[in-house]
Amino acid sequence: MPRSFSEVPVDLVKGVGEAKKKALLQEAIATVEDLLYYLPRRYLDRSVREMVFLEEGPATLVVQVKSSFLAHGKRSRLMAQVRTLQGHPLTLVFFHGVNFYRYALKADAYLAVSGRLEKFGGGFQMVHPELETLDSADMEGAIHSGRIVPLYPGNDRLKKASLDSRGMRRLIDAAFQAPTLFDVPELFPESIRKKHGFQGRRWALEQIHFPESEESLAEAIRHLKYEELFLFGALMHRKQELRRRFTRELWPLPYGKSALFQQLILNLPFELTAAQKKAIETIVTGCQRDSMAAYLLQGDVGSGKTLVAFALALHYIENNCQVALMAPTEILARQHFRTLSTLPGMLPGVHMEILTAADTKKSRELTIDRIKRGDANLIIGTHSLIEPSVEFESLGLVIIDEQHRFGVEQRELLRRKGKNPDLIAMTATPIPRSLCLTVFADLEPVLLKEKPAGRKPIKTMWLTEERRKGMYQSIRNHVSKGRQCYIVFPVIDESEKLDLRAATDACEELRTAIFPEFKVELLHGKMKGPDRERVMNEFRAGRVQILVSTTVIEVGVDVPNATIMVIEHADRFGISQLHQLRGRVGRGSEESFCVLMSDSTTDSARERLQALVDSEDGFALAEVDLRLRGPGELLGLKQHGLPGFKLADFVKDRTLVEISYEDARTGGDLTEAAVQAIRHRFEEGVIVFPN
Ligand code: ADP
Ligand code: MG
Repeated sequence: MPRSFSEVPVDLVKGVGEAKKKALLQEAIATVEDLLYYLPRRYLDRSVREMVFLEEGPATLVVQVKSSFLAHGKRSRLMAQVRTLQGHPLTLVFFHGVNFYRYALKADAYLAVSGRLEKFGGGFQMVHPELETLDSADMEGAIHSGRIVPLYPGNDRLKKASLDSRGMRRLIDAAFQAPTLFDVPELFPESIRKKHGFQGRRWALEQIHFPESEESLAEAIRHLKYEELFLFGALMHRKQELRRRFTRELWPLPYGKSALFQQLILNLPFELTAAQKKAIETIVTGCQRDSMAAYLLQGDVGSGKTLVAFALALHYIENNCQVALMAPTEILARQHFRTLSTLPGMLPGVHMEILTAADTKKSRELTIDRIKRGDANLIIGTHSLIEPSVEFESLGLVIIDEQHRFGVEQRELLRRKGKNPDLIAMTATPIPRSLCLTVFADLEPVLLKEKPAGRKPIKTMWLTEERRKGMYQSIRNHVSKGRQCYIVFPVIDESEKLDLRAATDACEELRTAIFPEFKVELLHGKMKGPDRERVMNEFRAGRVQILVSTTVIEVGVDVPNATIMVIEHADRFGISQLHQLRGRVGRGSEESFCVLMSDSTTDSARERLQALVDSEDGFALAEVDLRLRGPGELLGLKQHGLPGFKLADFVKDRTLVEISYEDARTGGDLTEAAVQAIRHRFEEGVIVFPN
């Protein structure tokens, strides 16, 4: 019995020498398993077809080059005269990469060309077809043509080691041609394989590289998608179970009737919404179990998540626990600190501290000392909270505001400062259900679907440049009546000097030329803490009427009198980000407006901006965002997709997501191979998952 392919080093495959081995290792391909999971990016249908007639439309043809020449004219181009195997003449035309193609288009060379056939000047032509040089016209036994052929993702390093699509194809074919080299162990129990009609893992892998037909390719993809989702589901299920085994070490547990909480309610200038009450009740009840609790508090922008978090914090404080609230920006941390300090009547027993990077060394030391001694019990801060010098006396609850702005490591670092503290992660915008089921599966979801009463809808408009004058005029009208306005520029990475320059210049123009009668100030992430604080205070107090800002105000900022949000170059933002920004207005009882400035005409921009204009429902918008941009953006990951997932799509494969997760949960013990595969595939990736 051969060894499992996870244990067979890739250099045992025929054709892998030192150079190739090195290049493969750089792509994290160390074993035959890794090699076989290096999946095609797409396929060329090079099945041999008897092409008797040529017709316009997409086609793949095997041709032989007759001649090629450089044609000069309005645009110089490379023209190649070729003949199909049936003898039809055809012209290939290239405008770019002429030198490269000239080499490939040597007389007599056989090529598979794939592109759009068009009638031209009495004959047929293809402009910039995909080319693949063939060894001969005879495709018997060929791996590069005469079948559905895989194309692999590549890069320069791989290319240098002759591991372009052709090279990869040869290796993978060589691996499959050596049946005694390795075994492909099954991952699922027989019952699951039967239930889904899977033909076997080896078959699926063979077919995904070298499909016999469209049908078998589809079948292989279904199998391997399920595999990804099942393994991930099993992992998340295990994490859930593990969490249940952690018991809370701080006693007594928070109880339902916190006097501090009652006092807060009495003193609030408004009623809690029904959704807020329910969320608080759910979490307080959950926290009375003796295992650690972890929640994902999801609510739309402006639904009042902060207050829910504070209310829960009080329950812990009253039970002699410390609570840490970590926010992604200093502005936000200070805002939380201020909000809570000014809530009347809740101060006895609550000792707040704030810790951010802006503190002086001296005051920082004092703060850290008070946290360590337990003199402070509600500690608000930024990333500063996770620094090693910060220690807690009895950390019982960790609250992460705007969780997508933090990496898992950061959240974990904070949690490890306590003994199995409970966790509440708050989202900026709702997260689609398919992601909740998978990526966030080990957090219990708590939803805030309702917004505080009396909020008027935000009028959202998408305007082009020619409407700018009118837009300024209407800002003038509103600001004259006492309202305030944000104008946001897309400085997404604050180190982008050019973008920052644009925002600075625009602010100068707004201040001097457009709104000389108002106080206009600039706010950006590169400003010093105290300067930023001063500008925010002035804006909050209404002394600054127009705040020109970068995305530092994207999350959390709460100034109810601000009713106009203008977003410049709105097409440069994603849906969730735009929705977040828009959420800065509509927080008071006055009618609010959001203006999306963009002249972009691309489909993607249109779809995004129109979605914002059409809907104010964060839950619905999150689904659109997931569909358009994949889960990476929504989760605050840099990459488009999720690590460990190559095939499954959280939108298109929604049903499969649910089925596989349920199978993983109810499927009983995992096979040894499955445990190994989970570890291999997700363990590193999981570090970046948001829980
Ligand atoms: P988000 O969910 O976006 O974090 P916030 O917690 O910032 O929202 O709340 C937005 C605003 O709504 C704040 O000014 C807050 O004081 C206010 N708010 C919260 N709960 C209520 C309520 N029940 N009734 C009225 N206003 C509320
Ligand atoms: Mg918030």
